[in-house]
Amino acid sequence: MQIAPGVYDLTPPQRGYFKGGYVHAFLIESDAGLILIDTLFDADARIILDQIQHLGKTPQDLKHIVLTHGHRAHLGGLATLKRLSGAPIYAHEWEADIVSGDRPQQGVNLRPMKGIQVYPIVLIGTLLEPFTHHKPATVDKLIDEGDTIGPLRVLHTPGHTPGHLAFYLPERKTVFTGDAFVTWPLICPGWPNAMLNEKQTWTSLRRLAAMEVDVIGVGHGNPITQNGAAVLRELAARGKL
Ligand SMILES: [Zn+2]
Ligand SMILES: [Zn+2]
Repeated sequence: MQIAPGVYDLTPPQRGYFKGGYVHAFLIESDAGLILIDTLFDADARIILDQIQHLGKTPQDLKHIVLTHGHRAHLGGLATLKRLSGAPIYAHEWEADIVSGDRPQQGVNLRPMKGIQVYPIVLIGTLLEPFTHHKPATVDKLIDEGDTIGPLRVLHTPGHTPGHLAFYLPERKTVFTGDAFVTWPLICPGWPNAMLNEKQTWTSLRRLAAMEVDVIGVGHGNPITQNGAAVLRELAARGKL
């Protein structure tokens, strides 16, 4: 689904309840080639490859794979896509050794119980954890606040994880928030039980809310396709930290 000119949400509607919790990934057409933001859950990358083909492109047209953070649901097709495309992988330094398989991701808490729909995923994910590791892949380029990848600007948005990144596409007033802001199962700054630093989370959210944004591609749940800044501002105003 196209959510802004040349910006595609790669997740079919309602897909992935037990496969990463309605996780979403995005593809951008740019002068710098195709840019992919996150890689969904499925290790075979089939959904993403099908969408690339649907656009009349080949895997070799994919030139950049950028990651919001190193959580399993966002890394599924990573190794496969890198092998098929030859595209470099970009991530923040703090996440890079998780992506490469040298360090496990942090466990999640079972409290608070907010966002109850998340619990089947958290519980099943925890039980299956020994069997569902992502296939490791080396991060080729470490990125941080202020860097650019083609038309994308890198925003460091810690809280959910210390190396969490969001990406801003100013020419299309679109921001990709990863898990710094999600719309499933509720509109919130990331799932509360998976948040490593709540204070940083709210600071990052306020920062996103101050930007000129129409469209928001989120890490879990449906994207917001108009007047996204108003939604971010309303949520940010509720932050207590
Ligand atoms: Zn996450
Ligand atoms: Zn996530």
